[in-house]
Amino acid sequence: MEKKTEHYDVVIIGGGAAGLTAGIYCGRAKLKTLLLEKSLVGGLATYTNEIENYPGFPEGTTGTDLMGLFHKQAKKFGVDFKMTDVKSVSVAEDIKVVETFRVRYECKAIIIASGGKPRITGAANENMFLYDKGISFCATCDAAANTGKTVMVVGSGDAAIEEGMFLTKFADKVIVSVMHDHGKMDCNEIAKTQALENPKMEFMWNTVVSSFEGEERLNSVVLNDLKSNKLQNVKVDSCFLFIGYTPNTEVLSGVVDLNRNGYIRVNEKMETNIPGVFAAGDVCDKLLKQVATAVGDGAIAGYGAEKYISECEIYEHQILNQGKLSVVYLWNATDPSCRELLPLFEAFEQSHPEIRVTKVDVYKSPGLAGKLGIDSVPSIVYLDDGKIQKVITEKICDEIMNALTN
Ligand SMILES: Cc1cc2nc3c(=O)[nH]c(=O)nc-3n(C[C@H](O)[C@H](O)[C@H](O)COP(=O)(O)OP(=O)(O)OC[C@H]3O[C@@H](n4cnc5c(N)ncnc54)[C@H](O)[C@@H]3O)c2cc1C
Repeated sequence: MEKKTEHYDVVIIGGGAAGLTAGIYCGRAKLKTLLLEKSLVGGLATYTNEIENYPGFPEGTTGTDLMGLFHKQAKKFGVDFKMTDVKSVSVAEDIKVVETFRVRYECKAIIIASGGKPRITGAANENMFLYDKGISFCATCDAAANTGKTVMVVGSGDAAIEEGMFLTKFADKVIVSVMHDHGKMDCNEIAKTQALENPKMEFMWNTVVSSFEGEERLNSVVLNDLKSNKLQNVKVDSCFLFIGYTPNTEVLSGVVDLNRNGYIRVNEKMETNIPGVFAAGDVCDKLLKQVATAVGDGAIAGYGAEKYISECEIYEHQILNQGKLSVVYLWNATDPSCRELLPLFEAFEQSHPEIRVTKVDVYKSPGLAGKLGIDSVPSIVYLDDGKIQKVITEKICDEIMNALTN
């Protein structure tokens, strides 16, 4: 069956905090924007019951409520949403292609905001009990089902300890397996103090999971004591894993540059190594993976996509000028020597109506300077038949301008 083709300015992969923010920026810039999400709009933030560190909510909020607002705002700006899994991405041409099972989406820019998925321990029998069989990654989703029960939390970072404390509102006992020495945890100090004082929390220091045991469902976790090397079978009703994430970049291998852990490499403009392909949020190689940083990344990526598309349009329609004569003045508005030459170009434009004259401020449009291969200002580029004929970077004056087309 031949796939249907649809056209967009921007396709965003992933509907978490980063993708939704990028959507708000692109939609508001009046770009025709599509957001593809394979499971739940809102992403990983919807896994957490309490978000206390996202600015603007002094009383805290829930991940679901916060992401609901992001979603509403993106829809308000006209972003199209489709619930489907991206199967492949192709960026070899200027027109990029994102494919799902049924549809081929052609677009001018792509924003990858596919986040990460929770890491598993790799211990024996783990795959037998994942998700609804007793091993969970989401306290918000599965806390109520553990009312009055004993659960284990594996990990000691912010997510592990904060979600563990949330679980104590439901479970009778929360056993925390920590791989570090007694009292040493990876979470923030406030969470650490609260957790250590919580009577429902019990810590098993210097332990890692050796195996998961049970029949149909998990009923115990075997922990290995890293100091004594002794195994201990701990009876639990559920086990929550909070030991970090791996990036969702399976379909991007060989498409954009990834680091050795599979995270996308980006610069401070959230640009990947491919022009017109941006990445944002937890899928990027970055220091702090939080909603606030995903929002910042998404805003930069959305702005970058808008800028990239507008520069491509100026290049295609104005600078290449359908193969007709074209002169580009590359300047910087803050540089007096560039400003002094402006009247020269205005006079040239008036006396040469057959030539399309474009002024490019390299500060605002560095991408256009890059496309023309220019790295110094003031400069002049003369094009004929869509090809660069002359580049002048020195002694720009009347005579040089008049001799340009000879
Ligand atoms: C338990 C827990 C507690 C947390 N607590 C906090 C907190 O208190 N404060 C805070 O700031 N942060 C918290 N975080 C971190 C925060 O949730 C993340 O940093 C944030 O959600 C990252 O957003 P993102 O958009 O980059 O990625 P995600 O939220 O992971 O979104 C990525 C989306 O992309 C989708 N996707 C992936 N691959 C594809 C594909 N091929 N096709 C289509 N869609 C795809 C996924 O389904 C997902 O919805 C917590 C995280 C967890 C798990």
